[in-house]
Amino acid sequence: MPETKVKKEEDFHEWYNEIVELADLCDKRYPIKGMNVWKPHGWRIMQNIDNLIREEMFSTNHKEVYFPLLIPESLFKKEEEHIEGFFQEVFWVTHAGDNELEERWLLRPTSETAMYPIFALWIRSHSDLPLKIFQIVNTFRYETKQTRAFIRVREIHFFEAHTAHVDFEDAERQIEEYKEIASRFFRKLCIPFIFNKRPEWDKFAGAYYTISMDALMPSGRTLQLGSIHQYRDNFARPYNIKYEDVNGEHKYCHQTTYGMSERILGAIVGIHGDNRGIVLPPVISPIKVVIIPIIFKGKEREVLEKCREINDRLKEAGIESHVDEREDTPGSKFYDWELKGVPLRIEIGPKELEKRTVVIARRDTGERVEVSEDNLLDEVRRLFDLISENLYRRAEEFMKNHIATVDTIEEAKNSRAYIFELPWCGEKDCALRMEEELDLKTLGEPLHVDIGDKRCAACGGRAKTFVRLAKTY
Ligand code: ZN
Repeated sequence: MPETKVKKEEDFHEWYNEIVELADLCDKRYPIKGMNVWKPHGWRIMQNIDNLIREEMFSTNHKEVYFPLLIPESLFKKEEEHIEGFFQEVFWVTHAGDNELEERWLLRPTSETAMYPIFALWIRSHSDLPLKIFQIVNTFRYETKQTRAFIRVREIHFFEAHTAHVDFEDAERQIEEYKEIASRFFRKLCIPFIFNKRPEWDKFAGAYYTISMDALMPSGRTLQLGSIHQYRDNFARPYNIKYEDVNGEHKYCHQTTYGMSERILGAIVGIHGDNRGIVLPPVISPIKVVIIPIIFKGKEREVLEKCREINDRLKEAGIESHVDEREDTPGSKFYDWELKGVPLRIEIGPKELEKRTVVIARRDTGERVEVSEDNLLDEVRRLFDLISENLYRRAEEFMKNHIATVDTIEEAKNSRAYIFELPWCGEKDCALRMEEELDLKTLGEPLHVDIGDKRCAACGGRAKTFVRLAKTY
């Protein structure tokens, strides 16, 4: 089988750059760096990912909205920490034709400052709460670091959920719901991840605290897939988001957000892909089964008819399938569909025709099995489950094998792990010292820790928790 020029195990980043284009996900030749063209296959996969998160949102009573792209400067400037965090990344609109605008507008880097003045109008009484909305839109951030398809871009395909609650406790319950949603969602995509409570000095601008979801890429670097924020009333105060409680008292709302981006697709490509292409979890593959006729002279018509019949049966059962009838060799068709990550390939030739069987090949393992036509649907569904399970277990094993819990910086230096957990007193200086000595970045603390009587790996003081460190994207 043909393979990529660059091998994944030899140069992960070169392999990644090659595969995103070969698999027809995006075109990086658009003349603005970090703004890539979504190609049909990539866009359909992304839409399937979006639909999975929509399902999660609708089933937990969130409503979908769409807010404008442009935000007036005066609204943006209401929450100081938030502006400080984003100011250097913002694109400004200053003119309409020749005329300078009276007030500058910016392209949303995220939508708090677009939404919250409107929340203040929508929310009147406790009966309007909780307010739970989300949108899937493009956001813009001027990245100065090296851009990378789906991982570091300037026009971001962004999911953001925003909620408002009567008090801190209700907002905390929302955070729990988001953690459950994230766990279900990433399990479906076969991506194992860890939650990290981000350190004070690296939380989302304006947040009370931030929890990130981080996955481990084969390069040994972690990729932040998304984040959940507790705002408390940090935004409700400057944006005046108040409600009247049962006693007629006016109180500020407490708010949360949950954000993710096309980095999810970057993780799927990077974690599951191999030297023959990307490997898609069945749940998001636009085509789940591709049928390849194996044509021999004199049997063309019968083989094709059988392929179409099987295709119809799959479609009727709700399984997206496709017959590749192109004038091409089976081998080069195999190659094309493997590149695109289609989970199952069915081969039908004169031999199978005679036996009333089909051959099914798995994209993830390359295994081929012969299946009776009568058992086809059951077998296809069973294989989808096996593929999802295999992709998840493989990735989970890789991540678990590369997390090391150690007591000292020396131990970490001698370890071959990628993610380290070291006992930590909670002081910023100590985390920064560990970062420097190990040449890693702080991911944050695990959410639940039993630290016992360990000593901080930097200062030797009593440890309060573990700090996790890794190389990051
Ligand atoms: Zn310390």
